Amino acid sequence: MILAHGGAGSTPMTPVQRDCLVEALTIGFDVLRYGGRALDAVEATIRVLESGLFNAGLGARIQLDGVRRMDASITEGRTLRAGAVAGIERIRHPISAARLVMEKTEHVLLFGKHATRLAEHYKLERQPRVPTSLRKGMAPPKGSQKRTVGLYEEMEERETVGAVALDRDGNVAAGASTGGISYMLPGRIGDSPLIGCGVYADNDAGAVSMTGQGESIIRIAAAKEIVDQLESGTNPMTAARHTLNKLKKRIAGGEAGALVLTSNGRLAIYHNSPQMCAGYWKDSGKPVVYLYFPNRLTGRSLNDTY
Ligand code: ASP
Repeated sequence: MILAHGGAGSTPMTPVQRDCLVEALTIGFDVLRYGGRALDAVEATIRVLESGLFNAGLGARIQLDGVRRMDASITEGRTLRAGAVAGIERIRHPISAARLVMEKTEHVLLFGKHATRLAEHYKLERQPRVPTSLRKGMAPPKGSQKRTVGLYEEMEERETVGAVALDRDGNVAAGASTGGISYMLPGRIGDSPLIGCGVYADNDAGAVSMTGQGESIIRIAAAKEIVDQLESGTNPMTAARHTLNKLKKRIAGGEAGALVLTSNGRLAIYHNSPQMCAGYWKDSGKPVVYLYFPNRLTGRSLNDTY
């Protein structure tokens, strides 16, 4: 079973993004169908989503100094192993760099040029340089520019990606990959590479991947909070709703979305943002992709059902 998302926010999903999400779910589901591990399914799914259509990998946002610095993490529930990179540059698939940290080092999180160096050492594919025209970065909008920039963002904005999976052996895994948020100070790091905040997986309970404003998600360690509730028997929808309500109530600007999958195969996609572009593929049938999940998996599609 696999769930994936292309971010929570207010940006409409384009048909190309929807197709990409379907392709990502298909690739992840194939890994599981042929007996592969949840960890491999999560990595394969996120690699597709890092293709440039979302705010991850090739499509990642640029920080205010014009540099693209990306965050990613991957974690698995059998051994509680985890790997993450923060502020990695010029690497096409940050999720694979996160996995290298997990599998080739004794560490959990590497940052900046050190993360890039590890990825280069293992010959991970590089990204082309950010075009000179973009390298100046984007200044925050002021006064009269606000409306124009807001409109531009609505039309162009891409969102973070993530996935969770459950394999035949009952192992869960979670991952996330992002270019961060708009108008970031150089060096800003969000929740996505922080284990327990952006992602968490534990075979005793389930797996979670978060999206939304990282500064809020970090402050309540959202992914771990949801998994803890699963462990004490709360159903996935209630757990996600409880945590996202807390986020909204306690922290101004706490808009977010969560993919939740329990080790015994129950799932929920929940967001308190206007939309969340996400989908799942259960044991049979077809991949399901929606732009909006008003309650559990009976998503309303706004014409974006696959
Ligand atoms: N959580 C990501 C961050 O704050 C952004 C997102 O999910 O849209 O970096």
